Amino acid sequence: MSFDSIENDFADNLSDDVSGRPVSEVLVEMAEILRQAQSVLIATHVGPDGDAIGSSVGLALGLKSLGKEARIFSGSSVDGRFEGIIADGSVETVDEEGASRLAGQFDLCVLLDTSEPARAGVLEGVIFAPGQKRICIDHHLLSGEYSFDSHLAVESSPATACLVLWLLDELEVAVEDDIARALWLALATDTGWFRFSNAGRLAFQCAERLLEGGLDPEELYSLIYGSRSGQKTRLWGRVLLEHQLSLDGRLVWSVISREILAETGAVREDLDGAIDILKGVKGAHAAALLSQLDDGSFKVSLRSVESIDVERVARELGGGGHAKAAGYSATGTAQEILDTLKDVLSTQLDT
Ligand code: AMP
Ligand code: MN
Ligand code: MN
Repeated sequence: MSFDSIENDFADNLSDDVSGRPVSEVLVEMAEILRQAQSVLIATHVGPDGDAIGSSVGLALGLKSLGKEARIFSGSSVDGRFEGIIADGSVETVDEEGASRLAGQFDLCVLLDTSEPARAGVLEGVIFAPGQKRICIDHHLLSGEYSFDSHLAVESSPATACLVLWLLDELEVAVEDDIARALWLALATDTGWFRFSNAGRLAFQCAERLLEGGLDPEELYSLIYGSRSGQKTRLWGRVLLEHQLSLDGRLVWSVISREILAETGAVREDLDGAIDILKGVKGAHAAALLSQLDDGSFKVSLRSVESIDVERVARELGGGGHAKAAGYSATGTAQEILDTLKDVLSTQLDT
């Protein structure tokens, strides 16, 4: 399909959440900044999920096809499930010291799937170094002041990948083969394989575009969801086995401590997606999964089953996300964290 024939009603009609300008206008501005850059560093949020990785890889491949140097860096290693979809070495893992050596080495930094400096982890200092040119593409609800040379944030976009797809269209990059596969990984995982509430017309329109790029959804599904290890299967079993109900059954929650994790032999990343089976408990309006990190603190994942806005809850507790899927970090015992969560949630449930 030639670039001219691509119809993009959505990019023409949607507004950017930062400036209120049409998305298409911000895309033109971003494409120009990218055209002027020769070396580009791409980074995303800590604990990168499918959208974070897929959007990063899709954009990097697109920029490389234009003859640019594009490298993706992350403080965390990539979920093994994404191997086979993205090429080996697509994402370079760096620690704090390695990241500090990257400062000032790139014409442009691109932050994807988050707008929050702290969520960039070890790359924060590189992206936000004084004088560094930087842009951001995101679909989370914004909660502050941001300093980017261009910032595209569209909460109604089902995944960051849709915005990257339109940017690649603007750059006249053909979205096919490995680029389409990477963006599919992003879109399909962020929409729960097109089941969540964000799987609306926009998601299906992007999916159609990616299908035209030549990919096999069944093959990608089985790479991501059909290759569960024994350890991970045991871990997901524990998530269900340990589940409890609170707030008259309206909150279903489960805690995976370091000890439980060790007993199953799984790694923390294996928990990604487990909350979606937890939330299926009848009568629950919200689900919470607490998973303990190596330092003893907890990552709390929240999902809304009914009309609760879990982003508001997470934000009140120092985190963020979307109305239906959000999260935050917390210290203290699991019991203390749950008590605080129940307090905040019950005010939402009563309204
Ligand atoms: P997860 O439960 O990790 O799948 O995350 C669900 C959503 O919440 C994603 O959109 C995340 O970006 C967001 N989220 C998770 N943890 C945090 C956090 N500590 N701060 C801000 N947003 C978060
Ligand atoms: Mn993400
Ligand atoms: Mn996302």
